[in-house]
Amino acid sequence: MPVPTVSDVIAELDALWPPELAESWDAVGLVCGDPAAEVRRVLFAVDPVPEVAAEAVRLGADLLVTHHPLYLRGTTSVAPVGPAGFKGRVVHELIQAGAALLVAHTNADRADPGVSDALAAAVDLRVTGPLVPDTTDPAGRRGLGRVCELDAPLTLAEFAARAAHGLPRTAGGLRIAGDPEAPVRTVAVCGGSGDSLFAEVRAAGVDVFLTADLRHHPAAEAREAGPPFLVDAAHWATEWPWCEQAAAQLDEISDRHGWALRTHVSHAVTDPWTAHAPSTSPAPAGSSSPGAIGAPPSSSPGAPR
Ligand SMILES: [Zn+2]
Repeated sequence: MPVPTVSDVIAELDALWPPELAESWDAVGLVCGDPAAEVRRVLFAVDPVPEVAAEAVRLGADLLVTHHPLYLRGTTSVAPVGPAGFKGRVVHELIQAGAALLVAHTNADRADPGVSDALAAAVDLRVTGPLVPDTTDPAGRRGLGRVCELDAPLTLAEFAARAAHGLPRTAGGLRIAGDPEAPVRTVAVCGGSGDSLFAEVRAAGVDVFLTADLRHHPAAEAREAGPPFLVDAAHWATEWPWCEQAAAQLDEISDRHGWALRTHVSHAVTDPWTAHAPSTSPAPAGSSSPGAIGAPPSSSPGAPR
């Protein structure tokens, strides 16, 4: 069976997530590794952190593909010391093990299928189109975020429970803004930080927005302006489904070429939040106490094992 090189695999992955789709501020592509080296194992992960680099080395992966860049801004050193020394450690560990690192970030967000398609699939939503269409795509499927429909209406509480079940488990779970009993039929999703997209979400006229990293002011202002309701998950959790989608895409490519290549998906939870303390203080007099939506089942199908 033919064994591809790093550059053979990158050529195929670049076709899936064209680097020219990336934002101008982004840092996508090969970070380290010999393009001529052979690749027998590929590991997909969201974050290029030391825990994930160690997993790649343990697995004997020749290529680590992450969604987030290792170095987003310029650096003058990859020394494994100082506050950003963990990044240097990742570089050293991978190079010493002969493993390459490739980043597919906003190019994977915009691609068809992209990060938000994987998020929609994890929550069992039917995608009807991009939230912010890429005007250069004649097929009208590329772009940021996705607008989706539910196969049958749910209450906001039921929808949130479905998202909690479909996304991998994190310490913080989900935060919900809106009437839990209100009906939900249409959903906008955006993997990763979505609070710059409120205008587009409102223009799409959807009932609920599922994303991550929502901050107080944008979220509060969006709720005061009316629909949509908000469901806020961990950033990592909204992007992790892309790893499985990406691995399946590379498996298909590998089968087509008859490559001797194995793909793996990291189940390391790299969400920085490690615990959740529910409020136990009494609600102020006259205020409604915050609600809780049914705890997700203990063995969520999307949960990393
Ligand atoms: Zn992200």
